Amino acid sequence: MNTDLAAALEQIDQRGFLDLRVSPELDLFAEIARLKREKNAIILAHYYQRADIQDVADFIGDSLGLAQQAAETKADIILFAGVHFMAETAKILSPQKKVLLPDLHAGCSLADSAPFERFKTFKDLHPDHLVISYINCTAELKTLTDIVCTSTNALQIVNSLPKDQKIIFAPDKNLGAYIKQQTGRTDMILWDGACIVHEIFSVEKIERLKAQYPNAQFIAHPECEAPVLALADFIGSTTALLNYAVKTDCSQFIVGTEAGILHQMQKHAPHKQFIPAPPNNACACNECPYMKLNTLEKVYLALQYEQPEILMSQTLINNAYAPIRKMLDLSKQFGLI
Ligand code: 13P
Ligand code: SF4
Repeated sequence: MNTDLAAALEQIDQRGFLDLRVSPELDLFAEIARLKREKNAIILAHYYQRADIQDVADFIGDSLGLAQQAAETKADIILFAGVHFMAETAKILSPQKKVLLPDLHAGCSLADSAPFERFKTFKDLHPDHLVISYINCTAELKTLTDIVCTSTNALQIVNSLPKDQKIIFAPDKNLGAYIKQQTGRTDMILWDGACIVHEIFSVEKIERLKAQYPNAQFIAHPECEAPVLALADFIGSTTALLNYAVKTDCSQFIVGTEAGILHQMQKHAPHKQFIPAPPNNACACNECPYMKLNTLEKVYLALQYEQPEILMSQTLINNAYAPIRKMLDLSKQFGLI
């Protein structure tokens, strides 16, 4: 092993990725295709990934679709182009496979908002409540969870429970508030977490855009705050937003979710116009800084050296498995996957 590689491997914990120089002459698309073939590897990518990563992926999807693919793939290696909780979920569902995440520091503000100890104390205060956790949480938090959900199935999962069932919904208070409003549940306590990307949209700027494009529909992800959702013509998970935008008879959309989804929207409906919903300041805050930590170079290096790898104890895998399995089984039952 050369010294640069040895040093880079040693620094993965600290840096989060393999910090090695990639020659600009290398055709990364061809190299990644070769590595996938040679290693029987699959690339699963979330819609919020950079466009070039989406273009090398074998499957692009939302959290539910990606979890299903991770559970069912026959590949030996899963390269997860997404964030840490997604790669962890893949490892829990396919523990015998090698799961790679191009940058281990690709986290999530929602997962960070619900640390194990604080949540356990809170849960212990409400022993008669069932815990439904949005998949955007750590594996440790999943071990304190009865049923995991995603933005695709949260409504159906909550609706499938008896009306008087007391619920703790964690960690996304915006998705929780939306589900609470849709289901009319009163016994539902919300954990105080939020997505930094979906909280940034500006009601005033969206209203101005709607006035500027009177024929456009505003479509939004349920992680957005209630005043933003109140302006929406359609609310759904990233896959639901994509399907709606492609199928519905409208040719202009203001899109209230992370801007990476526009790549697939534009690909699937090139004749339509997609306008990213504006944040309440001048930065590119409608891009998830965690998702964007992954780059094509890091994907290539991760496949080449099979690092950084998601490693979890068998106990953690076993304890986090049941609530995720339950979600997949219910989603099948509801015809969502
Ligand atoms: P979905 O993938 O369920 O649409 O959620 C979006 C998201 O924020 C993922 O981190
Ligand atoms: Fe987390 Fe929001 Fe980024 Fe999704 S978009 S990974 S919820 S911070």
